[in-house]
Amino acid sequence: MPIFYDTHAHLDYPDFAAELPQVIERAQFAGIARIISIGTDLESSARAIQLSQQFECVYAVVGWHPNEALAAPDDLRPALRELAKNSKVVAIGETGLDYFRLPSHKEGGTLEQDEVFKRKQAQIFEQQLEVAAECGLNCVVHQRSAFADTLAMMRAFAGKVRGQFHCFADDARAAQQVLSMGSLVSFTGILTFKNGQNIREALAATPLGQFMLETDCPFLAPVPYRGQRCEPAYVKEIADVAAQVKGCTLEELSAATSRTAHDFFPKLK
Ligand SMILES: [Zn+2]
Repeated sequence: MPIFYDTHAHLDYPDFAAELPQVIERAQFAGIARIISIGTDLESSARAIQLSQQFECVYAVVGWHPNEALAAPDDLRPALRELAKNSKVVAIGETGLDYFRLPSHKEGGTLEQDEVFKRKQAQIFEQQLEVAAECGLNCVVHQRSAFADTLAMMRAFAGKVRGQFHCFADDARAAQQVLSMGSLVSFTGILTFKNGQNIREALAATPLGQFMLETDCPFLAPVPYRGQRCEPAYVKEIADVAAQVKGCTLEELSAATSRTAHDFFPKLK
C-alpha cells in the first residue's frame, strides 16, 4: 500500500479529544504513516508535543498563528526555543500573515486597529523565522490575502529558512513565485472540490518533489466527506486526486511526497 503523510493536522483541537486513538488508528489503516500536529499558540504547541510523545507516528510543529497574534507575548522567542529542542519538533509554525479577517471588517473596528494587528503579526512572524534559522528548522507558513507581504518577509530569510505554504489556494503563477524562492507548497482537500480547478492547475504546474499533502484537519474534509469533520485518514482521498492531476501512479506520488517531507522536516524519522 502506498504510504502518505499528513503534514498539517490540528490533532490537539477538541474535535478529536473523544477518540484520538481511533483517529490515529484509522489513519494508519489508510496508509497515512506520519501525522504532523501543528501548534497555533504556546499551549497548543505544548499539546502537540505531548501528543508526539504519546503516539510514535505523530510529530509536532511549534509556533503562533497570525490570527491569534494580539494574544502573543512581545517576545515569543525564548519559549519557542525551549519547545523546539524536543526531538519530535520538526518545524516552527504555523506562522505568517492573514489580512482576511481584519478588525475593520467588523462593526466598530478601525483602520488603526488593522495596522496594530498587522504589525503584531509581522513581529511574531519575524521572531518565528529567527528561531527557525537558529535551530536549523523550516517554517509552516499560513498566508491569506497577504501574499506579497508574506513573500517579502520570507525573502529576508532566503537561504536560511524555507516555508511550507500550507493549504495552498492560489494560482499557478503564485506557486511559481513560492518555488522560485526555494519554498514549497502543500495541498489540502480543497484540491478535490468541484470549484478547486485553479488549485488543481497550481498543482499541475508544481513538479513532483516540490509539494506535500496535508488535511488541515479538523477543517477542509475532501470529497466525498466535504462538510464533515476532517481527519488524517482522508489524505488518501487527496492523494487520489493529486495523482490524477499529476498523471502519475500513487506509488510515484508516495515516494516523491515522502522524500520531500523528509527533506523539508529534517527531524522527521
Ligand atoms: Zn493549520
